[in-house]
Amino acid sequence: MTITTSPYVKSQNDDDKLHEECGVFGIFDGNNAAAHTALGLHALQHRGQEAAGIVSFDGKQFYSHKALGLISDNFSSASIIDKLHGHMAIGHTRYSTTGETLLRNVQPLFAEFSFGGLAIAHNGNLTNAMHLRRELVKRGSLFQATSDTEVIIHLMALSNAKSIEDRLVDALNQIEGAYSLVCLIENAIIGVRDPLGVRPLVLGKLDNSYILASETCALDIIGAQRVRDIEPGEIIVINKDGLRSFKPFPQKKERFCVFEYIYFARPDSSINNRNVYDVRKRIGAELAKESPVDADLIVPVPDSGVPASIGYATESGIPFELGIIRNHYVGRTFIEPTDHVRHLGVKLKHNANQAILKGKRVVLVDDSIVRGTTSKKIVTMVRDAGAAEVHMRIASPPTTHSCYYGVDTPERSQLMAAKNNVEEMAKIIGVDSLAFVSIDGLYRAMHEKKRDNKSPQFCDACFTGDYPIELTDHNRSLGKGYHNDTFAGFAEI
Ligand code: AMP
Repeated sequence: MTITTSPYVKSQNDDDKLHEECGVFGIFDGNNAAAHTALGLHALQHRGQEAAGIVSFDGKQFYSHKALGLISDNFSSASIIDKLHGHMAIGHTRYSTTGETLLRNVQPLFAEFSFGGLAIAHNGNLTNAMHLRRELVKRGSLFQATSDTEVIIHLMALSNAKSIEDRLVDALNQIEGAYSLVCLIENAIIGVRDPLGVRPLVLGKLDNSYILASETCALDIIGAQRVRDIEPGEIIVINKDGLRSFKPFPQKKERFCVFEYIYFARPDSSINNRNVYDVRKRIGAELAKESPVDADLIVPVPDSGVPASIGYATESGIPFELGIIRNHYVGRTFIEPTDHVRHLGVKLKHNANQAILKGKRVVLVDDSIVRGTTSKKIVTMVRDAGAAEVHMRIASPPTTHSCYYGVDTPERSQLMAAKNNVEEMAKIIGVDSLAFVSIDGLYRAMHEKKRDNKSPQFCDACFTGDYPIELTDHNRSLGKGYHNDTFAGFAEI
């Protein structure tokens, strides 16, 4: 294996949390496999902006490049792409929730096994990784990174199963949590979705090449066609003989993450035959039906509030206006890790369009309220611009619980809706009225009649506290990072 790495390595403490939000991509048997992977990752950049990596294989050797920062800054030059030889490649784009990203945590992770090399890229979060890691360390495993994904590699290494696939199944049978995986071995790429299918993974085709990607927008960018979504609990092996699929886990009802539709996925992606943009507009329409306001303008909090605002405006008949303008040269606020940067970020990112807002009764529409930081600042900005009334409508139910399945949310104590009712939140944010779409309104927008409370159609734990997968580490208070008692820290300088 050749490892080429960016010289840019931040000085950091090694206390990455387990949680990650990520995008994954893989291509088998393609000309320009690495270039296609870089383009795919560029389309998935919204799923993680802190670091990225690509591993390719040319029949003889693996090649890897990893870097902190954006795809366009690190994977656009021929001098890098041309060195990632081969007809197959996988890639990953990520960010960690604390922001303390280490190059050695950047995926795809690579390991040499008795059967050969394996690279792995993971979107999701394992909820028993800490517990397993302790057990593995006791048995002699030496961990190189702090990412939960490394646990899968060690479990595979210790498996007695003969084939690579069986070792993978062996490992996955021991892990809990949400995972969409793309792996690269010497003669195949492998895609996996966890038994509940919490995170997305789609299969595409470009001429004779198969592609695996987190979202369809990564297929569009290279001109590939969507074939189908990988099914929950499905493992798909793509090699020179074509495509083979099997389902080694007990069948369970799908619980796809509803927050992917609300915020996380790109609006031009379709998941399970639902277009994300359409869903967001329908949530806005439900919100308008449930919580109408007598107002002059519907104004989105850009960009994430735009589709729901269009839905709200169309349903209510109130004009849609861009009363807030976003500076696109600043990354997503949330993706900037520290509180200090997050606060700065909001100011840098949005500006009120005074000429539009002055003297008007305004309905602001956003996708979600997490800590409330964004809403407070936006409302102050809109009032300072001379709005006569400011109402806020939110295209998700109140976020009352943290996510442990791969969406970065702060601890429960920091969630505004965990401590306050809607009236109290309205006061804190400083609006004349505040309303959230109801759970059933959200499900109607997903073309479901209502939430099936006995067997819900989606994972909506962030709104209901109904966690479909065991939270082993969290319940044992192990979920806060690897370095609480057993493991010393490690700083890359
Ligand atoms: P807050 O300021 O903490 O209330 O954050 C709410 C804003 O962050 C909303 O405008 C959302 O668009 C965005 N947001 C919500 N959840 C996430 C997430 N998990 N990752 C990144 N951004 C998010």
